[in-house]
Amino acid sequence: MDVPFLDAGAINARYADQLKAAAARVIDSGRYILGEEVDAFEKEFASYCGVQHAVGVGNGLDALSLILRGYKELGVLKEGDEVIVPGNTFIATILAITDNRLIPVLVEPDPVTFNIDPVMVKAAISPRTRAIIAVHLYGQLADMPRLAELASNHRLLLIEDAAQAHGAMRDQCKAGALGDAAAFSFFPAKNLGALGDGGAVVTNNDELLHRIHALRNYGSEVKYQHLYQGINSRLDEIQAAMLRVKLAHLDEDIRQRRRIALRYRELIRHPLIQLPKVSIEESHAWHLFVVRSAHRDALQKHLYTQGIQTLVHYPIPPHRQPAYISLQHVHLPLTEQLHDEVLSLPMGPTMRSEDADRVIAACQSFECDA
Ligand SMILES: *Cc1c(COP(=O)(O)O)cnc(C)c1O
Repeated sequence: MDVPFLDAGAINARYADQLKAAAARVIDSGRYILGEEVDAFEKEFASYCGVQHAVGVGNGLDALSLILRGYKELGVLKEGDEVIVPGNTFIATILAITDNRLIPVLVEPDPVTFNIDPVMVKAAISPRTRAIIAVHLYGQLADMPRLAELASNHRLLLIEDAAQAHGAMRDQCKAGALGDAAAFSFFPAKNLGALGDGGAVVTNNDELLHRIHALRNYGSEVKYQHLYQGINSRLDEIQAAMLRVKLAHLDEDIRQRRRIALRYRELIRHPLIQLPKVSIEESHAWHLFVVRSAHRDALQKHLYTQGIQTLVHYPIPPHRQPAYISLQHVHLPLTEQLHDEVLSLPMGPTMRSEDADRVIAACQSFECDA
């Protein structure tokens, strides 16, 4: 491929020396689980997000699941409670809910931003609703002011799935600082990616922090004393060391993503390709640049023949997956239509404007006989 969708090797090659030095530091330390690197990264990442606490965990799914589990241990959530969640999200958001024996109530997105629609959330609130999970889809913040108002009027938890939105900001507040607790993923392809799996929970809630600290480590705060039936989901020392190197460059990476997005938005002008809409520029961290087309499959094929790799996020919504036969009855026409029409163009911090221009030229030359 002339323009790959994302080049994780090139992203890390930029700091190869620093990453190798950080790995050597961990190797030489003799401490590989819950040591100084995780401690330091937790402080640095909490401070980056503008919150009091971060807890490093094994991955983004566990981060989401541990937030819900933590609230169960606090007695705020109980089995059978309903959690409102967008239908058009990565399956992890839904898995975290059902793992905890909570009930996912799927709602349609806003047709312009594809983010969770507060009007739909309001209509879905029932006497059993206890929480909303907002997903900052593709890196763009959900409408948190309106969701926060709903959450406060109905006494609901407001949880952020910020796995795609490291560094997205609104009114000087970053993703992670806009609800009661937030989950991040450091999967290598995310805006802040480790060199393997990783995740974090961030929150200002001390009680929740203590529960999650214990839950990620066999339910234990003091070795061999188990307060909860916890899990083993700890951020590795070596990944924490990698993430400390990369966190220092995150804002610069997001600026480059914004430049590429701006170029796409200025120069792609095609009647069959709908560009993403942005309300507040800095509220978008451009994890993905997602266009919409009624001729998506033909467009993807055309770009492929021009040497441009694209992906679909996501081809099948969770409620249409074999894993969720239980959600078969759910009818979400807009969500289903979006899954047929979305296409993610190449996007990443190592893309140059020449790469963007090749993508733009290829889009402009798209012709459809259908
Ligand atoms: C990537 C992602 C997750 C899961 O993160 P993992 O680290 O892969 O477990 C959860 N939610 C969303 C929206 C994601 O994009």
